[in-house]
Amino acid sequence: MSEHANLLRRHRAVMPSWMALNYTDPIEIVGAKGNRVTDAEGNGYLDFFTGILTNMLGYDVPEVRDAVERQLATGVVHTSTAYLLRGQVELAEKIARLSGIPDAKVFFTNSGTEANETALLLAAYARRSGQVLAMRQSYHGRSFAAAGVTGNRAWTNVSFSPLDVHFLHGADRHLPQFAGMTDEQYIDACAQDLRHVIATATGGDVAALIAEPIQGVGGFTMPPDGLFAAYKRVLDEFGILFVSDEVQTGWGRTGQGFWGIDNHGVTPDAITFAKGLGNGFAVGGVVARGDLMDGLHAVGISTFGGNPVSMAAANATLDHVLDHDLQANAARQGATIIGGLAAAAGRFPVVKDVRGKGLMFAIELADPGTGEPSPPLAAALMEAARERGLLVGKGGLYGNVVRMAPPMTLTDDEAAEGLGILIASLEAVSDTAVAGGRGGSSPHKDGAAG
Ligand code: PMP
Repeated sequence: MSEHANLLRRHRAVMPSWMALNYTDPIEIVGAKGNRVTDAEGNGYLDFFTGILTNMLGYDVPEVRDAVERQLATGVVHTSTAYLLRGQVELAEKIARLSGIPDAKVFFTNSGTEANETALLLAAYARRSGQVLAMRQSYHGRSFAAAGVTGNRAWTNVSFSPLDVHFLHGADRHLPQFAGMTDEQYIDACAQDLRHVIATATGGDVAALIAEPIQGVGGFTMPPDGLFAAYKRVLDEFGILFVSDEVQTGWGRTGQGFWGIDNHGVTPDAITFAKGLGNGFAVGGVVARGDLMDGLHAVGISTFGGNPVSMAAANATLDHVLDHDLQANAARQGATIIGGLAAAAGRFPVVKDVRGKGLMFAIELADPGTGEPSPPLAAALMEAARERGLLVGKGGLYGNVVRMAPPMTLTDDEAAEGLGILIASLEAVSDTAVAGGRGGSSPHKDGAAG
């Protein structure tokens, strides 16, 4: 048995079966530089998913490495809410300023799940209510509260929720009652639905609406720009808070706005973030109106967030994003790739949809015969891209969406290379689908969410 095969055997023996690994022959990454990684067998890949969106700048970035090494050299490697930590204050100042939220304050966590727990706690406490609004097909994490507001049951274990949750439409526009509507009509219908839910199911005493501006795990589903502005007008009438989960959409990735919610012209009461900020180091958090943050009469949700090494990495990463205007790069490279995919899509009957904003884009696969969502085709596309040297991710209610969020440092050449591989992979998969009649859907049931 090869060392690689032996590692896989050991993984299966001691790690939970629901930690489903990508690919029939899972990859062990042993080296990484720039926007490329190398596996244990010496294969190189262009990385369009970086773990699960964890590396905004790609790998082995000199500024991030230097900042981390400087912090390590001080010997101060602990995590504390009891002492002043300069890196926390500096990063909080930057994020508060960038948030656009008046008098904003920041609390750091280690993950997006904890960030959302914190935001829900703030809202429930401020409003003295355990009622929350969330979106169908959303993903916010797998703790009890975060799973409770996750409207994509295919990706969660529990239906139990400590909060009383009401789910809204928004991104699931393909329902028959919305057929043929313009964006304006659709937004209007959603706003009316929100008003109706509040009036009929809650009595108005709702803590917050939590939503992703673009649904990540949901398969990069996007409500039309302006939907959340319409929602916000209704929420404001009732004093209901709005939490934007920017774990995937933040830091300029969507190109048009620094936060995904900027695409809707809305300033939320709280923003949650995680993933890419530490460029691989664990850091998450919530930035919220100061009165909400200070209103919590207890220490934060954990004593363990914001360790100095993660703060050093995150400060260096955020500075790099801003200094190099990576938001503009995300807009430019994203337009090339999305435009290229959209132009090619007509040639492939397996492609149901190409969508995205900036460096967040997806290909939805459907059985060419029945039009049904096709998880096997998505899996085949992932394998075909891997064979050609490109790593991508998957998502969607049925696991039938191949989604990508390359590092925001993506170059012109890398964008062209990735696009070329995707088109070649679609050709290969389409040929097999036509020859072998591949397809068929059942709701997604593996655990590799992200
Ligand atoms: N919110 C969103 C939008 C996410 O995509 C994720 C992770 N996929 C989470 C929250 C949970 O973050 P974490 O896995 O870091 O706990």
